[in-house]
Amino acid sequence: MIKSINPATLEINGEVEETSLEKIDGIYESSRIAQKKWAKLSIDERAKRIIKLNEVISEQFDEISLLISKEVGKPPSEAFINEVYGVADSTFYYYSTIKEVLGKAEQISLGFYEALNKKSFLLYKPIGVISVIGPYNYPFAIPVQQIVQSLLAGNSVVFKPSSETVLVGKKIQEIFDRLDLPENLIQTVFGSGSKIGNFLIDNADKVLFTGSTSTGKKIMERAAKTLTEVSLELGGKSAMIVFPDADIERAILAALWGAFTNSGQVCAAIKRLYLHSDIYDLFLNKLVELTKKLKQDIPTKPNVDVGAMINEEQLNLVDKIVKVGLEEGTKILTGGRRNPNLKGYFYEPTILTNANNSMQVVQQEIFGPVLVVLKFNDEKEVIEMVNDNQYGLTNSVWTKDVKYGQKIAEELDTGTVMINEVVYTFALAATPWGGTKNSGIGRTHGKLGFYGVAKPLHINIDQYKGPDLWWMPYDKGFDEIVDNFKTVAASLIVKD
Ligand code: NDP
Repeated sequence: MIKSINPATLEINGEVEETSLEKIDGIYESSRIAQKKWAKLSIDERAKRIIKLNEVISEQFDEISLLISKEVGKPPSEAFINEVYGVADSTFYYYSTIKEVLGKAEQISLGFYEALNKKSFLLYKPIGVISVIGPYNYPFAIPVQQIVQSLLAGNSVVFKPSSETVLVGKKIQEIFDRLDLPENLIQTVFGSGSKIGNFLIDNADKVLFTGSTSTGKKIMERAAKTLTEVSLELGGKSAMIVFPDADIERAILAALWGAFTNSGQVCAAIKRLYLHSDIYDLFLNKLVELTKKLKQDIPTKPNVDVGAMINEEQLNLVDKIVKVGLEEGTKILTGGRRNPNLKGYFYEPTILTNANNSMQVVQQEIFGPVLVVLKFNDEKEVIEMVNDNQYGLTNSVWTKDVKYGQKIAEELDTGTVMINEVVYTFALAATPWGGTKNSGIGRTHGKLGFYGVAKPLHINIDQYKGPDLWWMPYDKGFDEIVDNFKTVAASLIVKD
């Protein structure tokens, strides 16, 4: 059995049965049968059945939010806005746009070849069986959005939640079980990645993975054996750059939320704050003051801002790297320790200064409530510092001059740049989500997310009468044809 523990109270939430290895091949076989039935339905019919999900979750908004809170340690209100609302919004958006994105045959212009009565179309077909492997930090929103896009595109899904959040995983299965879907179209398996992970890769037609960079690399290595496509949504070390002309009051609140929401266990959380020297002291003093006022407690109590981290191991990892930071010469302005007043896995919201860009606390992902603050003097310097990092998931630029912000954005090597915003674009169903460098490969969400769970099929139609010009025999007449082609090729030059 896999136990679910409340990281804030250390009480046991419940348990689920581990999926036995012997069952997994059979699960994929039944998934394949279900997928074939599902793919035969029209897109409209599939969408009609999937949108019922919003009705099912609307009956249990509070129940789902509380369950997320109890398994992950975040406040239920935060769980609702960032996860449950996000699922309702994105499911509606995907329901409304699937036909437009994947449902139409797109004609491709063929230029010269059209004169020879040739046409091409592009269609999008389901890939087959998709394995969705989820992380613990957003155990509802991340996998459900990926499952919804995969199913709408005509695939079946085998889903593995993190072993830390098995009850949310079980809840997701229960929600889909209430929809009118072919039996076994979506199945959930439980077990540690090291035990069952390879089966989920070997049997799948595509793997949608969200988690750490080190696990992502293992998945890609395994997938290479079967040449299985992977999408990897991995770690991050998002930077926030604040220029002196920014709306400083708003930027301070954004940094506070961006760094400490979900106890900083957010791939896109603000981890590096680059402040221009003109506003450095003012900004930092106010930020530290507000951070000290954050209420950290059992997240189901009223008005709690920051809850617990997921487990002791993660908390110790965070504490260890903060200590490395101290050895490197950084200074703790607030936090920097496990909360001594609470017995769960609470790490105090922490701000470090006196850092330089090459320190480990600036370079490595710290998956907890730790923000490192750095000073810069000009744009060239800050762009270099922000890009000098192994991750490239999101970055944030703060200035009232939006044109200038865009110019800076274009210089940053990252999947998303938010101008005068932080973190939140994960919630935008319409925009692509994914990173560069060690933050991953591929995109989920939006149009690109749909393309990621579909297989392009190109159909070429020929209504030319007689043999094509380039067919055999290569006789004397063929020399003349080659000459004509040379004339055409020579006309394809573009002069200044
Ligand atoms: P992990 O990489 O530890 O685990 C993610 C999932 O992978 C879990 O379900 C885990 O199962 C499973 N897993 C572990 N080993 C294997 C394996 N060999 N084969 C297949 N599956 C495996 O990540 P965390 O859950 O700790 O999540 C935190 C990380 O996720 C952070 O680095 C964060 O930045 C990143 N993340 C990225 C996001 C993005 O969109 N880019 C969004 C959210 C988080 P189990 O734990 O049960 O062993």
